[in-house]
Amino acid sequence: MHCEDVFHRRRKAGILPSLEDLLFYTIAEGQEKIPAHKFTTALKATGLRTGDPRLKECMEMLKVTVKTTSDGALDRHLFKKCVQSNIVLLTQAFRKKFVIPDFQSFCGHMDDLFENARNLSGGQVADYIPQLARFSPDLWAVSLCTVDGQRHTVGDTKVPFCLQSCVKPLKYAIAVHDHGTEYVHRFIGKEPSGLRFNKLFLNEEDKPHNPMVNAGAIVCTSLIKQGASNAEKFDYVMNFMNKLAGNEYVGFSNATFQSERESGDRNFAIGYYLKEKKCFPEGTDMTSILDFYFQLCSIEVTCESASVMAATLANGGFCPITGERVLNPEAVRNTLSLMHSCGMYDFSGQFAFHVGLPAKSGVAGGILLVVPNVMGIMCWSPPLDKLGNSVRGIQFCTDLVSLCNFHNYDNMRHFAKKLDPRREGGDQRVKSVINLLFAAYTGDVSALRRFALSSMDMEQRDYDSRTALHVAAAEGHTEVVRFLLEACKVNPVPKDRWGNTPMDEAVHFGHHDVVTILRDYHTQYSPQETPDDKQSAEKNLDGLL
Ligand code: GLU
Repeated sequence: MHCEDVFHRRRKAGILPSLEDLLFYTIAEGQEKIPAHKFTTALKATGLRTGDPRLKECMEMLKVTVKTTSDGALDRHLFKKCVQSNIVLLTQAFRKKFVIPDFQSFCGHMDDLFENARNLSGGQVADYIPQLARFSPDLWAVSLCTVDGQRHTVGDTKVPFCLQSCVKPLKYAIAVHDHGTEYVHRFIGKEPSGLRFNKLFLNEEDKPHNPMVNAGAIVCTSLIKQGASNAEKFDYVMNFMNKLAGNEYVGFSNATFQSERESGDRNFAIGYYLKEKKCFPEGTDMTSILDFYFQLCSIEVTCESASVMAATLANGGFCPITGERVLNPEAVRNTLSLMHSCGMYDFSGQFAFHVGLPAKSGVAGGILLVVPNVMGIMCWSPPLDKLGNSVRGIQFCTDLVSLCNFHNYDNMRHFAKKLDPRREGGDQRVKSVINLLFAAYTGDVSALRRFALSSMDMEQRDYDSRTALHVAAAEGHTEVVRFLLEACKVNPVPKDRWGNTPMDEAVHFGHHDVVTILRDYHTQYSPQETPDDKQSAEKNLDGLL
């Protein structure tokens, strides 16, 4: 049966387009059916992954449903069956409501930056333990995850490596989440040390300078799950790591742990010094805390899973792909502040100056980078510069901020504009009829005001010749109907492809208040006066916007 007939019959039966239908028409582009692969390709273009836990129901249903078809394609009915459980997320994705609306072109830029850094050959792979020395200097990966869970990944992003010092901000976040700022900072300062990360040195109050240097991180380790057994402590942190990573890869390298412990003389020296200066909470067993410290350095991630961890920080403590709250706002804010000032070893000041974003690097070559409210990024490449930061990682971060306005102080008034991938891309998107009809459908008057203000044609029709006024009348959104008539002066009697007017819709669905508004409007204005009086429409807009 032809698509039009189906639609006509449905309308006769009094069923209006649902969100699922609107999504169907968006993806089908005029075809009667959507091939499953077309749907998944379109989905990936938004940045969502088919493996996203938030789309589990949809993907499972898709798999089952496709098997029942002869051609692997979904008609409107089957499509609805597949998407309905996750319709809110899918609608957001296809309406380009995610933080990076034009995700494909953003990924293109990221790939260019990745290629640019790939060519760098400088730096030295850490070799103080064999588990690190073994990594090829050619390994290079960048993964990102936005606060809406859009993913992009390029290079060796599935190779496990140890977090090493990148775990420091994460365990600090756990400590603050559990105990609050005041308690944690009774033991640890908040000031950059100006000294090498593993220096045996405390501030004037005999506290470690901050939780991003070894002394501070060792004390921070002692604050987690005090009184619990070593096994319980480890499980507790691993559980946190899994949640931060949205249950993506988190492992443990026992070999690294053993090597770290065997070669950890400096950390033992720091441990004894901290003990002498009474830096630990009472009752702390310093040597088992050092073990725990080495274990946390030996937690493994992949570039991909770590990008989700960073994204959880970027997203105020909620993991973007599970929606779970992992850290409270206080923990996130503190962590980002200290990453910003102390996260990049003795390059921290320069990094804060040039890149202006919170980040933490580790000796395995990772740089955990956070663009607050936008995305988390993990860059990984083992060769390190003299200060201990990944050579390719630093290049990528610097290039990223040269291209995009992500630096903390990029968005000042009167600044020359850099690329802002957060912006809604171009007029085309804003003017698309689908957004107009969605706003009318959901009764979103303020969105309609914005559209009107950006001189959108408020009489636009979809391919069934339906206008925003049809949709608002059918849904009974009186405020929208009034706005369209009075402020926008839209034609009050447009006919859709079945010859129905907004009045027909309002009557059909029993929205008496809408019927009254439309009738009053008719009586107030003679038919010649009503439509297309753009000048007075503009005047009215002034009053109503
Ligand atoms: N395991 C190393 C240490 O504690 C971590 C080094 C690092 O990543 O900065 O010395």
